[in-house]
Amino acid sequence: MRYAELLKRLAHLDKNYKVKVIGKTKFNRKIFAVEKIVDKSFSTAIFISSIHARENITSDLVFEMIEKNLFDKIDKFNLSFVVMANPDGIEIQSGNLQSFSKRHQKKFLKMNGGKTDFSMWKANAFGVDLNNNFDANWGTNVHSVEPSSQGFVGKKPFNERETKAIAKYTKKINPFITISYHTKGEEIYFNFFQEKQEFLRYEKIAKRFQESTGYMIRNVEKSSSGGYKDWCVSKLKIPALTIEVGNDNLSHPIEKENLSEIFEKNKSIAFDLMFAYNEFEKSRWNMSYNEKFMKKAMSLAKKAYEADEVPVGAVIVKDGEILASAFNKRESSFDATAHAEILAIRKACKKLGDFRLLGAEMYVTLEPCVMCTGAILNSRIENVYFGAYISNGSISAEELSKRSELNHKTNFFGGYLEKENSDLVSSYFKEKRKK
Ligand SMILES: [Zn+2]
Repeated sequence: MRYAELLKRLAHLDKNYKVKVIGKTKFNRKIFAVEKIVDKSFSTAIFISSIHARENITSDLVFEMIEKNLFDKIDKFNLSFVVMANPDGIEIQSGNLQSFSKRHQKKFLKMNGGKTDFSMWKANAFGVDLNNNFDANWGTNVHSVEPSSQGFVGKKPFNERETKAIAKYTKKINPFITISYHTKGEEIYFNFFQEKQEFLRYEKIAKRFQESTGYMIRNVEKSSSGGYKDWCVSKLKIPALTIEVGNDNLSHPIEKENLSEIFEKNKSIAFDLMFAYNEFEKSRWNMSYNEKFMKKAMSLAKKAYEADEVPVGAVIVKDGEILASAFNKRESSFDATAHAEILAIRKACKKLGDFRLLGAEMYVTLEPCVMCTGAILNSRIENVYFGAYISNGSISAEELSKRSELNHKTNFFGGYLEKENSDLVSSYFKEKRKK
């Protein structure tokens, strides 16, 4: 879809959709967001189309979705479509060079390697690949060192108007998920160096999209940098998917006659989004749930501190109830094994009349040591959420769990209220050294 067609389609949108201008290119083309607001207080899913010029069939795709009323059932969250992220690039890609000055036309030709066929053009009018211009490991994968039809990352992150406008708008909306449509290879990308728990949550959402579209998840993070998805995951800490909608058998750029096939594969988009929204709701609930028990463990750690013990507290939870809790008593009990985790496990086992704590979870302020990890694995605790990481170079609890001979594996999730927890331990040792 070209810019002129975009303007026409925008004028004929259903009244439930509001058109907003979120930025302008250097050549005065507008960057539009089409919003469907169910309720202003609700969260929003953001879509980005045509950030790569030659992939502008992704603009057609979202219009098709909107015009065929695919989103009508959605009533729990809002939607926003940045329907054409790179309008200047699309004018170049479609060969409409007359809309630029002679001086610029010459530059485009140079950036295009002297070729007069611009149909494979990806960049904007300054030869910047906009999906490499976001502030996420920016510049670590440079395919081109100068302005070019593709692969140039720009002079610095967000130095292009398009990326600046999209980032600003995204921050303001604060979405619960973003979907970026591209066209190469029927693939789904979701990861970018996120923490394990986020990885699992985002992967679950990606798998849902994989099932409904038939596209394959590609689990690579090292090759990507500076992308919108990368920025959303690393800076906004939200799930973000890059969905490549075009079959590799199709020649690029993908022609409009292939739109119906692409649309068919993506037509359960509303249900996929509802799934993602439910995951978001659950994680919001989980966050406050986890925090409640971690804070309880921290209050126990402070008791240990006051008793002149290394400040570590542990809480064991089952079915939302605290089963047992304890703090470190190594000094006062003359017992090398009296770590908070061990004491809590003993209490919990006694209470249940079983050495197996199946389905139980532990919240502990410090990463469990080797001894405690052994006890945790033997007690069959399902998940452990810990605060500060042990940084003395010893084997991590997670690694130990993986290497253990037991059939049972415990999930370890670290870094909960990490700063507060590590401050507590370090201030204890600082004070100790003074004495
Ligand atoms: Zn221990």
